[in-house]
Amino acid sequence: MPFQRKKIQYVFVIYWVLLGYIIAALVFWFISLNKQNAQMATYKIERLSTNSINYNAELQKIEIDRKRKIAQYVGEGATFLGLILAGAIFIFRAVRRQLRETKEQQNFMMAITHELKTPIAVTKLNLETLQKRELTPPQQQRLIHTSLIEANRLDNLCNNLLLSSQLESEVYRTVLENMNCTSLLEEVIMEFHQRYPDLKIEKNLQPNCLIMADSFLLKMVMHNLLDNAVKYAGKKTINVDLNAQNDKFLVSIIDAGPGIREEEKVKVFDKFYRVGNAATKAAKGTGLGLYLCKRIVETHKGTIAVKDAVQGGSVFSISLPKAKNV
Ligand code: ADP
Repeated sequence: MPFQRKKIQYVFVIYWVLLGYIIAALVFWFISLNKQNAQMATYKIERLSTNSINYNAELQKIEIDRKRKIAQYVGEGATFLGLILAGAIFIFRAVRRQLRETKEQQNFMMAITHELKTPIAVTKLNLETLQKRELTPPQQQRLIHTSLIEANRLDNLCNNLLLSSQLESEVYRTVLENMNCTSLLEEVIMEFHQRYPDLKIEKNLQPNCLIMADSFLLKMVMHNLLDNAVKYAGKKTINVDLNAQNDKFLVSIIDAGPGIREEEKVKVFDKFYRVGNAATKAAKGTGLGLYLCKRIVETHKGTIAVKDAVQGGSVFSISLPKAKNV
């Protein structure tokens, strides 16, 4: 968007010029008042009669008056300058935040258009091929399988979009109930095995881990994290661990993918945030998945974080409080 960038640069130039002008006017105001003050003091001294018995006292009074005025100008000037700078910083930050959000939304719109079009195009093509061509059963299965993967991706994307707006508008009512985290993970892993028959997932799940959670939301978290592990490191083994840790359960999803740079580790949980620029974003995505994971985990009074895996790759860890009556 070169036109928009130019417009933004233009706005920033006006902003800096105006700020510079205001500060220069303030300095000019201070200098001229000071000058006036000095002139007034000189005028008063000139009018003093040297023969007066109060001469020294009068002189001292004029000097005190002059100094008091200087202190008053410095105080007023500093207050003005402080207010102007505070306002300028506030506006600058607000505009910068707004610009970043606009840019992320534009990226999101581009990504989402692509994300919606691809599964539809692939499925349509596969269905047309199935309709028009005489295919062997394995060929048919392959086409059905790729169509199903694309349909699942579309389904996941729609769920993420819907849930994101429902959580933000507080329409979604979280229902926390006693549930078995181990069974939920087993179920999600089984779904992934069905979806990607070649996928290697090693699980190490402590049995019967009971938590208070909304099973639909928690399933979405696990789906998003495993989806990412498949997307960024699908050919290598993915590990899923579940262990008790004091009054919490810790779920770790470990992949052997490219990992996430230190400075990006917090940002990846921001809405629409995707690592890299348009050219380096080879994997498909919208930047919504981890944002939703964080929001959901926080509504369960848990935490989510990412760190480097020992042999390279990423470890996404979620800690969730144990159910109270366990
Ligand atoms: P996306 O739809 O882009 O995957 P996410 O919110 O799920 O959105 O992830 C945000 C970004 O974090 C991704 O664009 C990707 O760069 C990075 N990321 C997420 N998971 C992983 C992972 N397992 N390995 C490497 N990078 C990851």
